Amino acid sequence: MAFGWIDERRRARHRAGLVRTLRPRAPGSPLLDLAGNDYLGLSHHPEVVEGAARAARVWGGGATGSRLVTGTTELHTELERELAAFCGFEAALVFSSGYAANLAAVTALAPHGSLIVSDAGNHASLIDGCRLARGTTQVVAHADPEAVGKALRSHEGPAVAVSDTVFSVDGDAAPLAALAAVCREYGAGLIVDDAHGFGVLGEGGRGAPHAAGLAGAGDVVATLTLSKSLGSQGGAVLGPARVVDHLVDTARTFIFDTGLAPASVGAAFAALRLLRGEPERAARVRAVAGALHAGLTAAGLEAVRPDAAVVSVRAPSPERAVRWAAECRAAGLAVGCFRPPSVPDGVSRLRLTARADLSGEQIERAVRVIGETRP
Ligand code: PMP
Repeated sequence: MAFGWIDERRRARHRAGLVRTLRPRAPGSPLLDLAGNDYLGLSHHPEVVEGAARAARVWGGGATGSRLVTGTTELHTELERELAAFCGFEAALVFSSGYAANLAAVTALAPHGSLIVSDAGNHASLIDGCRLARGTTQVVAHADPEAVGKALRSHEGPAVAVSDTVFSVDGDAAPLAALAAVCREYGAGLIVDDAHGFGVLGEGGRGAPHAAGLAGAGDVVATLTLSKSLGSQGGAVLGPARVVDHLVDTARTFIFDTGLAPASVGAAFAALRLLRGEPERAARVRAVAGALHAGLTAAGLEAVRPDAAVVSVRAPSPERAVRWAAECRAAGLAVGCFRPPSVPDGVSRLRLTARADLSGEQIERAVRVIGETRP
Protein backbone atom coordinates (compact mmCIF):
# COMPACT_ATOMS: atom_id res chain seq x y z
CA MET A 1 0.00 0.00 0.00
CA ALA A 2 1.29 3.45 -0.92
CA PHE A 3 2.52 5.32 2.16
CA GLY A 4 1.93 2.20 4.28
CA TRP A 5 5.46 2.51 5.68
CA ILE A 6 4.40 5.73 7.42
CA ASP A 7 2.28 3.85 9.96
CA GLU A 8 5.19 1.87 11.40
CA ARG A 9 7.34 4.99 11.63
CA ARG A 10 4.58 6.84 13.42
CA ARG A 11 4.13 3.97 15.88
CA ALA A 12 7.87 4.07 16.57
CA ARG A 13 7.70 7.82 17.20
CA HIS A 14 4.74 7.21 19.50
CA ARG A 15 6.71 4.67 21.53
CA ALA A 16 9.59 7.15 21.83
CA GLY A 17 7.25 9.98 22.89
CA LEU A 18 8.06 11.93 19.74
CA VAL A 19 4.65 12.37 18.11
CA ARG A 20 3.78 16.02 17.63
CA THR A 21 0.38 17.61 17.97
CA LEU A 22 -0.91 20.92 16.68
CA ARG A 23 -2.68 23.10 19.22
CA PRO A 24 -4.62 25.89 17.53
CA ARG A 25 -4.53 29.06 19.60
CA ALA A 26 -7.89 30.58 20.43
CA PRO A 27 -8.26 34.38 20.48
CA GLY A 28 -7.88 35.89 23.92
CA SER A 29 -6.33 32.75 25.41
CA PRO A 30 -5.51 33.21 29.11
CA LEU A 31 -2.24 31.24 28.72
CA LEU A 32 0.91 33.07 29.75
CA ASP A 33 3.01 32.72 26.60
CA LEU A 34 6.70 31.89 27.00
CA ALA A 35 6.71 29.66 23.93
CA GLY A 36 6.38 32.13 21.05
CA ASN A 37 9.08 34.39 19.63
CA ASP A 38 7.33 37.73 20.05
CA TYR A 39 10.42 38.99 21.90
CA LEU A 40 9.50 42.65 22.00
CA GLY A 41 5.77 42.08 22.46
CA LEU A 42 5.08 43.92 19.20
CA SER A 43 2.90 41.46 17.27
CA HIS A 44 -0.31 42.91 18.77
CA HIS A 45 0.89 46.50 19.04
CA PRO A 46 -1.82 48.75 17.51
CA GLU A 47 0.67 50.43 15.18
CA VAL A 48 1.92 47.06 13.92
CA VAL A 49 -1.62 45.79 13.34
CA GLU A 50 -2.53 49.05 11.61
CA GLY A 51 0.66 48.85 9.51
CA ALA A 52 -0.47 45.43 8.27
CA ALA A 53 -4.05 46.59 7.62
CA ARG A 54 -2.97 49.74 5.80
CA ALA A 55 -0.57 47.81 3.56
CA ALA A 56 -3.27 45.25 2.74
CA ARG A 57 -5.73 48.03 1.88
CA VAL A 58 -3.24 49.68 -0.48
CA TRP A 59 -1.51 46.64 -1.98
CA GLY A 60 -3.97 43.78 -1.48
CA GLY A 61 -3.86 40.45 0.31
CA GLY A 62 -0.81 39.09 -1.51
CA ALA A 63 2.25 40.28 -3.40
CA THR A 64 0.76 38.78 -6.62
CA GLY A 65 4.04 37.45 -8.00
CA SER A 66 7.73 36.85 -7.63
CA ARG A 67 9.80 39.80 -6.44
CA LEU A 68 11.30 39.86 -9.95
CA VAL A 69 7.93 40.21 -11.65
CA THR A 70 5.10 42.00 -9.79
CA GLY A 71 5.94 41.15 -6.18
CA THR A 72 8.10 44.17 -5.33
CA THR A 73 6.07 47.09 -3.99
CA GLU A 74 7.51 50.42 -2.90
CA LEU A 75 6.92 49.19 0.63
CA HIS A 76 9.29 46.23 0.10
CA THR A 77 12.13 48.46 -1.07
CA GLU A 78 11.50 50.99 1.71
CA LEU A 79 11.65 48.24 4.32
CA GLU A 80 14.90 46.98 2.78
CA ARG A 81 16.43 50.44 2.94
CA GLU A 82 15.41 50.94 6.57
CA LEU A 83 16.48 47.47 7.70
CA ALA A 84 19.92 47.92 6.15
CA ALA A 85 20.33 51.40 7.64
CA PHE A 86 19.16 50.32 11.12
CA CYS A 87 21.43 47.28 11.29
CA GLY A 88 24.40 49.11 9.71
CA PHE A 89 24.66 47.15 6.44
CA GLU A 90 24.99 48.49 2.92
CA ALA A 91 21.96 46.68 1.52
CA ALA A 92 19.14 44.31 2.43
CA LEU A 93 16.83 41.94 0.58
CA VAL A 94 13.49 40.79 1.98
CA PHE A 95 12.31 37.20 1.58
CA SER A 96 9.03 35.42 2.35
CA SER A 97 10.59 33.84 5.46
CA GLY A 98 13.80 33.64 7.45
CA TYR A 99 14.02 30.05 6.25
CA ALA A 100 14.00 31.18 2.62
CA ALA A 101 16.56 33.91 3.43
CA ASN A 102 18.94 31.33 4.89
CA LEU A 103 18.53 28.95 1.95
CA ALA A 104 19.27 31.88 -0.36
CA ALA A 105 22.34 33.15 1.47
CA VAL A 106 24.04 29.78 1.80
CA THR A 107 23.23 28.39 -1.65
CA ALA A 108 24.08 31.60 -3.52
CA LEU A 109 27.36 32.16 -1.66
CA ALA A 110 28.68 28.60 -1.78
CA PRO A 111 29.22 27.70 -5.46
CA HIS A 112 30.57 24.47 -6.88
CA GLY A 113 34.07 23.81 -5.54
CA SER A 114 33.62 25.94 -2.44
CA LEU A 115 33.78 24.89 1.20
CA ILE A 116 31.04 25.61 3.74
CA VAL A 117 32.12 25.36 7.37
CA SER A 118 28.98 24.94 9.46
CA ASP A 119 28.59 25.02 13.26
CA ALA A 120 27.17 21.77 14.66
CA GLY A 121 24.46 23.71 16.51
CA ASN A 122 23.13 25.61 13.50
CA HIS A 123 19.43 26.02 12.80
CA ALA A 124 17.70 23.57 10.43
CA SER A 125 17.32 26.25 7.76
CA LEU A 126 21.10 26.79 7.61
CA ILE A 127 21.62 23.03 7.54
CA ASP A 128 19.18 22.76 4.64
CA GLY A 129 21.00 25.62 2.91
CA CYS A 130 24.21 23.58 3.18
CA ARG A 131 22.45 20.51 1.80
CA LEU A 132 21.14 22.41 -1.20
CA ALA A 133 24.35 24.31 -1.94
CA ARG A 134 26.77 23.13 -4.62
CA GLY A 135 29.74 23.55 -2.28
CA THR A 136 30.96 20.86 0.14
CA THR A 137 29.94 21.15 3.77
CA GLN A 138 32.15 20.43 6.75
CA VAL A 139 30.36 20.47 10.11
CA VAL A 140 32.60 21.65 12.95
CA ALA A 141 32.31 21.64 16.74
CA HIS A 142 29.88 24.10 18.27
CA ALA A 143 31.13 27.66 18.85
CA ASP A 144 34.72 26.70 18.05
CA PRO A 145 36.60 29.28 15.89
CA GLU A 146 39.74 27.15 16.04
CA ALA A 147 37.90 24.26 14.41
CA VAL A 148 36.66 26.69 11.75
CA GLY A 149 40.24 27.80 11.12
CA LYS A 150 41.41 24.21 10.83
CA ALA A 151 38.74 23.45 8.23
CA LEU A 152 39.49 26.61 6.23
CA ARG A 153 43.25 26.02 6.31
CA SER A 154 43.03 22.82 4.30
CA HIS A 155 40.85 24.22 1.49
CA GLU A 156 41.70 26.10 -1.66
CA GLY A 157 39.05 28.17 -3.42
CA PRO A 158 36.02 30.09 -2.20
CA ALA A 159 34.95 29.34 1.36
CA VAL A 160 32.32 30.53 3.79
CA ALA A 161 31.68 29.89 7.48
CA VAL A 162 28.06 29.70 8.62
CA SER A 163 26.76 30.19 12.15
CA ASP A 164 23.72 31.27 14.14
CA THR A 165 24.49 34.37 16.21
CA VAL A 166 22.32 33.08 19.04
CA PHE A 167 21.61 29.36 18.98
CA SER A 168 17.92 28.60 18.99
CA VAL A 169 17.92 25.67 21.41
CA ASP A 170 20.24 26.70 24.24
CA GLY A 171 20.17 30.46 23.66
CA ASP A 172 23.97 30.78 23.78
CA ALA A 173 25.78 33.31 21.58
CA ALA A 174 28.40 32.51 18.94
CA PRO A 175 31.92 33.99 19.31
CA LEU A 176 31.34 36.31 16.36
CA ALA A 177 34.47 38.48 16.60
CA ALA A 178 36.73 35.41 16.75
CA LEU A 179 34.84 33.75 13.89
CA ALA A 180 35.21 36.87 11.74
CA ALA A 181 38.92 37.07 12.55
CA VAL A 182 39.59 33.48 11.53
CA CYS A 183 37.53 33.87 8.34
CA ARG A 184 39.56 36.95 7.45
CA GLU A 185 42.80 35.10 8.07
CA TYR A 186 41.82 32.61 5.34
CA GLY A 187 39.94 35.01 3.03
CA ALA A 188 36.62 33.30 3.71
CA GLY A 189 33.19 34.92 3.97
CA LEU A 190 31.04 34.73 7.09
CA ILE A 191 27.26 34.20 7.04
CA VAL A 192 25.51 34.67 10.37
CA ASP A 193 21.86 34.01 11.12
CA ASP A 194 20.72 36.76 13.50
CA ALA A 195 17.15 35.47 13.90
CA HIS A 196 17.47 35.54 17.70
CA GLY A 197 19.85 38.49 17.99
CA PHE A 198 18.08 41.12 15.91
CA GLY A 199 15.89 43.32 18.14
CA VAL A 200 17.52 41.91 21.27
CA LEU A 201 21.30 42.36 21.07
CA GLY A 202 23.38 45.38 20.12
CA GLU A 203 22.63 49.04 20.59
CA GLY A 204 18.84 49.45 20.58
CA GLY A 205 18.43 45.92 19.15
CA ARG A 206 20.59 46.48 16.04
CA GLY A 207 21.64 42.87 16.28
CA ALA A 208 24.63 40.69 17.08
CA PRO A 209 26.76 41.67 14.05
CA HIS A 210 26.37 45.34 15.02
CA ALA A 211 27.30 44.53 18.62
CA ALA A 212 30.42 42.70 17.42
CA GLY A 213 31.49 45.57 15.14
CA LEU A 214 30.88 43.45 12.03
CA ALA A 215 27.91 45.27 10.51
CA GLY A 216 28.77 46.68 7.12
CA ALA A 217 31.97 44.64 6.73
CA GLY A 218 32.61 43.57 3.14
CA ASP A 219 33.03 39.91 4.10
CA VAL A 220 30.04 39.49 6.46
CA VAL A 221 26.46 38.64 5.50
CA ALA A 222 23.67 38.50 8.08
CA THR A 223 20.25 36.93 7.77
CA LEU A 224 17.30 37.61 10.02
CA THR A 225 13.63 36.90 10.41
CA LEU A 226 10.84 39.45 10.63
CA SER A 227 8.79 36.93 12.62
CA LYS A 228 10.40 37.20 16.04
CA SER A 229 11.37 40.67 17.31
CA LEU A 230 9.29 42.46 14.68
CA GLY A 231 6.20 40.34 15.38
CA SER A 232 5.45 39.94 11.67
CA GLN A 233 6.47 37.37 9.07
CA GLY A 234 9.26 37.17 6.52
CA GLY A 235 13.05 37.25 6.44
CA ALA A 236 15.95 39.28 5.12
CA VAL A 237 19.56 39.01 4.00
CA LEU A 238 21.81 41.97 4.85
CA GLY A 239 25.25 42.56 3.40
CA PRO A 240 27.37 44.37 0.83
CA ALA A 241 25.36 45.64 -2.18
CA ARG A 242 27.27 43.31 -4.53
CA VAL A 243 26.18 40.30 -2.47
CA VAL A 244 22.55 41.46 -2.45
CA ASP A 245 22.66 42.07 -6.23
CA HIS A 246 24.06 38.55 -6.65
CA LEU A 247 21.15 37.14 -4.61
CA VAL A 248 18.62 38.99 -6.78
CA ASP A 249 20.18 37.36 -9.85
CA THR A 250 20.70 33.84 -8.52
CA ALA A 251 18.92 32.94 -5.26
CA ARG A 252 16.23 30.42 -6.08
CA THR A 253 14.12 31.17 -2.98
CA PHE A 254 14.03 34.79 -4.14
CA ILE A 255 13.37 34.16 -7.81
CA PHE A 256 10.88 31.29 -7.66
CA ASP A 257 8.91 32.35 -4.56
CA THR A 258 6.06 34.84 -4.36
CA GLY A 259 7.16 38.07 -2.68
CA LEU A 260 6.39 38.64 0.99
CA ALA A 261 2.73 39.62 1.53
CA PRO A 262 2.28 43.42 1.78
CA ALA A 263 0.55 43.07 5.16
CA SER A 264 3.66 41.39 6.57
CA VAL A 265 5.88 44.10 5.07
CA GLY A 266 3.65 46.78 6.58
CA ALA A 267 3.66 45.13 10.01
CA ALA A 268 7.44 44.68 9.97
CA PHE A 269 7.91 48.28 8.87
CA ALA A 270 5.76 49.61 11.72
CA ALA A 271 7.54 47.36 14.23
CA LEU A 272 10.96 48.51 13.00
CA ARG A 273 9.93 52.13 13.51
CA LEU A 274 8.77 51.30 17.06
CA LEU A 275 12.05 49.53 17.79
CA ARG A 276 14.01 52.52 16.52
CA GLY A 277 11.91 54.93 18.58
CA GLU A 278 11.94 52.83 21.75
CA PRO A 279 15.43 51.32 22.08
CA GLU A 280 14.73 50.35 25.69
CA ARG A 281 12.64 47.40 24.47
CA ALA A 282 15.82 45.48 23.58
CA ALA A 283 17.37 46.07 27.01
CA ARG A 284 14.09 45.08 28.66
CA VAL A 285 13.88 41.68 26.93
CA ARG A 286 17.46 40.92 28.00
CA ALA A 287 16.61 41.87 31.59
CA VAL A 288 13.51 39.62 31.51
CA ALA A 289 15.62 36.70 30.25
CA GLY A 290 18.12 37.31 33.05
CA ALA A 291 15.33 37.41 35.65
CA LEU A 292 13.84 34.15 34.35
CA HIS A 293 17.23 32.47 34.50
CA ALA A 294 17.92 33.77 38.01
CA GLY A 295 14.52 32.58 39.27
CA LEU A 296 14.86 29.11 37.72
CA THR A 297 18.40 28.68 39.05
CA ALA A 298 17.30 29.76 42.53
CA ALA A 299 14.56 27.12 42.30
CA GLY A 300 17.27 24.49 41.71
CA LEU A 301 16.57 23.97 38.00
CA GLU A 302 19.31 23.49 35.43
CA ALA A 303 18.95 26.50 33.12
CA VAL A 304 21.49 27.74 30.58
CA ARG A 305 22.58 31.34 31.21
CA PRO A 306 20.92 33.27 28.36
CA ASP A 307 22.94 35.48 26.01
CA ALA A 308 19.74 36.87 24.45
CA ALA A 309 16.02 36.10 24.91
CA VAL A 310 16.03 32.28 24.85
CA VAL A 311 16.21 30.46 28.20
CA SER A 312 16.75 26.70 28.03
CA VAL A 313 15.93 24.32 30.92
CA ARG A 314 17.22 20.74 30.91
CA ALA A 315 14.71 17.88 31.14
CA PRO A 316 15.63 14.29 32.08
CA SER A 317 14.14 12.60 28.98
CA PRO A 318 11.99 13.37 25.91
CA GLU A 319 8.91 11.79 27.53
CA ARG A 320 9.32 13.77 30.73
CA ALA A 321 10.00 16.98 28.79
CA VAL A 322 6.69 16.48 26.94
CA ARG A 323 4.85 15.75 30.20
CA TRP A 324 6.50 18.73 31.92
CA ALA A 325 5.43 21.09 29.12
CA ALA A 326 1.88 19.64 29.24
CA GLU A 327 1.68 20.20 33.00
CA CYS A 328 2.88 23.79 32.57
CA ARG A 329 0.16 24.30 29.99
CA ALA A 330 -2.48 22.83 32.31
CA ALA A 331 -1.28 25.35 34.91
CA GLY A 332 -1.72 28.23 32.45
CA LEU A 333 1.83 28.56 31.09
CA ALA A 334 2.85 27.87 27.48
CA VAL A 335 6.49 26.80 27.10
CA GLY A 336 8.41 25.28 24.21
CA CYS A 337 9.50 21.65 24.38
CA PHE A 338 12.56 20.53 22.40
CA ARG A 339 13.28 16.86 21.86
CA PRO A 340 14.70 14.73 19.06
CA PRO A 341 14.82 15.31 16.15
CA SER A 342 14.90 19.04 16.99
CA VAL A 343 17.77 18.38 19.40
CA PRO A 344 20.19 15.91 17.87
CA ASP A 345 22.03 15.06 21.04
CA GLY A 346 18.97 13.67 22.82
CA VAL A 347 19.20 16.23 25.63
CA SER A 348 15.60 17.36 25.83
CA ARG A 349 14.68 20.77 27.11
CA LEU A 350 11.96 23.20 27.93
CA ARG A 351 12.57 26.38 26.01
CA LEU A 352 11.31 29.66 27.36
CA THR A 353 11.36 32.90 25.45
CA ALA A 354 11.55 36.19 27.29
CA ARG A 355 9.31 39.03 26.17
CA ALA A 356 9.90 42.72 26.77
CA ASP A 357 6.29 43.12 27.89
CA LEU A 358 6.34 40.52 30.70
CA SER A 359 5.67 41.95 34.15
CA GLY A 360 7.56 41.02 37.31
CA GLU A 361 4.49 39.14 38.51
CA GLN A 362 4.33 37.13 35.26
CA ILE A 363 8.02 36.22 35.51
CA GLU A 364 7.49 35.02 39.09
CA ARG A 365 4.41 33.02 38.08
CA ALA A 366 6.31 31.36 35.22
CA VAL A 367 9.18 30.35 37.49
CA ARG A 368 6.74 29.05 40.14
CA VAL A 369 4.78 26.92 37.64
CA ILE A 370 7.93 25.43 36.07
CA GLY A 371 9.34 24.65 39.53
CA GLU A 372 6.10 23.09 40.81
CA THR A 373 5.65 20.87 37.73
CA ARG A 374 9.27 19.70 37.46
CA PRO A 375 9.61 15.95 36.78
N1 PMP B 1 16.87 30.82 11.87
C1 PMP B 1 16.64 30.58 13.16
C2 PMP B 1 17.80 30.53 14.09
C3 PMP B 1 15.34 30.37 13.62
O1 PMP B 1 15.11 30.10 14.90
C4 PMP B 1 14.27 30.43 12.70
C5 PMP B 1 12.82 30.26 13.12
N2 PMP B 1 12.56 29.26 13.98
C6 PMP B 1 14.55 30.66 11.36
C7 PMP B 1 15.86 30.88 10.98
C8 PMP B 1 13.49 30.68 10.33
O2 PMP B 1 12.83 31.90 10.29
P1 PMP B 1 11.34 31.97 9.77
O3 PMP B 1 10.49 31.43 10.85
O4 PMP B 1 11.12 33.42 9.49
O5 PMP B 1 11.26 31.14 8.53
